[in-house]
Amino acid sequence: MLVERMRPHTSTIFAEMSALALRTGAINLGQGFPDTDGPPSLLADAAANIGSGINQYPPGVGAPELRAAVAEHQRRFYGMDVDPDAVLVTTGATEAIASAVLAFCEPGDEVVTFQPYYDSYAATIALAGAVLRPVPLRPNANANANPNPGGQRPPGFGFDSDELRAAFSSRTRLVLVNTPHNPTGAVFDREQLTLIGQLAAEYGAVIVTDEVYEHMVYDGREHVSMATLPGMAERTLTISAAGKTFSVTGWKIGWVHGPAELVAAVRAVKQFLTYVSGAPFQPAVAAALALPDSFYAQLASDLQRKRDLLSAGLRTAGFTVFDSAGTYFVVTDVRPLGYEDGAEFCWSLPERVGVAAVPVSVFCADPELGRPLVRFAFCKRDEVLTEAVARLVALRAPAG
Ligand SMILES: *Cc1c(COP(=O)(O)O)cnc(C)c1O
Repeated sequence: MLVERMRPHTSTIFAEMSALALRTGAINLGQGFPDTDGPPSLLADAAANIGSGINQYPPGVGAPELRAAVAEHQRRFYGMDVDPDAVLVTTGATEAIASAVLAFCEPGDEVVTFQPYYDSYAATIALAGAVLRPVPLRPNANANANPNPGGQRPPGFGFDSDELRAAFSSRTRLVLVNTPHNPTGAVFDREQLTLIGQLAAEYGAVIVTDEVYEHMVYDGREHVSMATLPGMAERTLTISAAGKTFSVTGWKIGWVHGPAELVAAVRAVKQFLTYVSGAPFQPAVAAALALPDSFYAQLASDLQRKRDLLSAGLRTAGFTVFDSAGTYFVVTDVRPLGYEDGAEFCWSLPERVGVAAVPVSVFCADPELGRPLVRFAFCKRDEVLTEAVARLVALRAPAG
């Protein structure tokens, strides 16, 4: 029944893993959502907005206070000069990405993106009838881009510049960039983003950047927003959302900003996907974006501690653990535990030790790329992570 172009995208691994976790009582470190609520002021504001009647369609472009707050946030954190009129509020980052792909790609046009990738990318590109040109992110490649102070552990993921160049062609319409990157935890630096930008300019492609983890970068790293690089603002659509930053993934409040004609094209599609959503949440998110620097610093330091807790436990359990420079995910290699296939490992893990995770191969166009890799989420309460680690250590092969 399903249209042919969507048939490769029916995988329900998250639902299946979550169901398996539930059935076995496993701790679910598969799906990436926090197990605590966001800032109390945000929750109270949203409840008050519902109580005071902010419940009908908001303006099609979004609530004015949220558009202004996004512009101010971009000025405050990145020194960008964003006109609130150039901000479009969307139903999560997901809708902003889908609208952009549908707005710019004719059937057969090509979209360059990095694999593994957030699962909606491939499905959305397929819906548009466009062609995915994936550039592999591999452990250890471009290691200098993610220097590891200790030098002992394997560094994070990076891309090869020749492979990036080879992915571009005269049909390249869009470059879809995600930094900090889910699932690998890579944070692209200025040099990497400059190369991506140069190629996009050379081939006349629009850049769409998914920055939903912008406030989750660790070890003193800096999140570099593509649109701040010289000459890039004129070809870049910058996307972010409230879900990750404020631990409200179920609210689906996102936004996109960029040059007026690009945003207008995105809006033309967006208005017929959902039209609008989240009226009472939009003004609440506007107020939360203005929370003091201490909120954002605390978010990053809490998550860095959680990353360290889980990463150390995974190493003790025998995994190869790659450096996560950002996001709330850490990627491991299960081969030291005697497995070749991450998917097989993930199917057995809940029964064996009572923890659930997801195989990286489900985020890949070429499953071989991620075959031995498994992603764990660390956006959970410390006691949950501590218990997960205690369970995982049982994987360590008994001596003799
Ligand atoms: C969670 C996530 C999204 C989705 O954001 P929503 O605001 O929930 O739509 C988009 N991109 C990446 C990389 C994500 O991890």
